[in-house]
Amino acid sequence: MALTIAVLPGDGIGVEVTAAALRVLRALRGDLEYEQADVGGAAIERHASALPDATLALCRRSVALLFGAVGDPRYDAPGSARPESAIMGLRKAFDLFANLRPVKLIWGLEGASSLRPELLRGLDLMVVRETTSGLYFGQPKRQFEEDGVEAAVDTMIYRRPEVERIARVAFELARGRRRHVTSVDKQNVLETSRLWRRVVAEVGRDYPDVELEHLLVDTAAMQLIRDPQRFDVLLTENTFGDILSDEAAMLTGSLGNLPSATFGAAEHPSGRFGLYEPIAGTAPDIAGKGIANPIGAILSAALLCRYSLSDEPSATRIENAVAAAVAAGARTRDLVRGGGPALGTEAFTDKVMTAL
Ligand code: NAD
Ligand code: MN
Repeated sequence: MALTIAVLPGDGIGVEVTAAALRVLRALRGDLEYEQADVGGAAIERHASALPDATLALCRRSVALLFGAVGDPRYDAPGSARPESAIMGLRKAFDLFANLRPVKLIWGLEGASSLRPELLRGLDLMVVRETTSGLYFGQPKRQFEEDGVEAAVDTMIYRRPEVERIARVAFELARGRRRHVTSVDKQNVLETSRLWRRVVAEVGRDYPDVELEHLLVDTAAMQLIRDPQRFDVLLTENTFGDILSDEAAMLTGSLGNLPSATFGAAEHPSGRFGLYEPIAGTAPDIAGKGIANPIGAILSAALLCRYSLSDEPSATRIENAVAAAVAAGARTRDLVRGGGPALGTEAFTDKVMTAL
């Protein structure tokens, strides 16, 4: 029986870039079963839930999820169902705690970056972000009134096993790379960070061949634009990882360039279960115009091949095809500084298909 891939385009440009990724993936892996389902605002519209049962059931029988993005300003009204709860729901349902965001410069795009090219040569880092705990999930989380004054609370909490397991992911990855882990926290102010730093250091003792350094998050944000080549694996908790990886993405020229893979403890009988998505959101400002950059989505399909299908040849072919299209001059609008000829999402994907 063919392996199933759940295709979850979601909202906004999620739809456009997922179509591009699917085109590329199908060309190499026509043997898989691709099943599409609604998530996010699209699902609220049709099923009154951002993550309908039918979508969840499809995810459960799939080896991997090819995800676009969710979110729509139409649901920003207080009390409204939030499309973003779909991604939170998936993370919880599959305990998807380890979010990997490889940040690599595609040579030719250095001009699109806000940094000088000499700071970018050889840029190759991996953000390992915890995604099931911390500030985004901790309870209490609510708005309330205190003596007639509006107030709100979020809770940042980490438990030892949550830190241990994400730290292990980072150290294991470092072994296949340059053997260096930078753990990011804010231990001078936050109790969660003090626990984080202590537990990461403990786990690090099991990996004497990997060098561990600790950085405060504000320093890490500074170092990322001062000297990005110094980083190999950047390990961090949920909120810091969210922010730092958007910053890191811009080093490569656009938020639209970056793919990601997220893993949990659960395994599919036929492969490593994972969720694959570009790191960007639904980009309401350009949605529906056919101009979104599909690189992050296409590279997410490459990660899907590498990690869930153990198909390194297809992963490499996809990555090389994107690099070749860029080398041949293909650019979407976000990658052209100061205006100039740009390709739409489909035309850019045509170039990738040709290179494939
Ligand atoms: P965004 O990432 O959607 O967009 C930020 C900026 O980057 C915009 O100017 C956008 O045009 C540009 N951009 C992003 N991806 C691009 C691409 N592929 N090609 C060209 N330009 C691109 O962030 P936002 O505007 O802050 O959020 C929009 C919505 O997306 C919100 O509802 C938010 O909650 C949601 N969101 C969803 C996810 C997710 O599904 N995982 C992640 C982040 C944000
Ligand atoms: Mn984000």
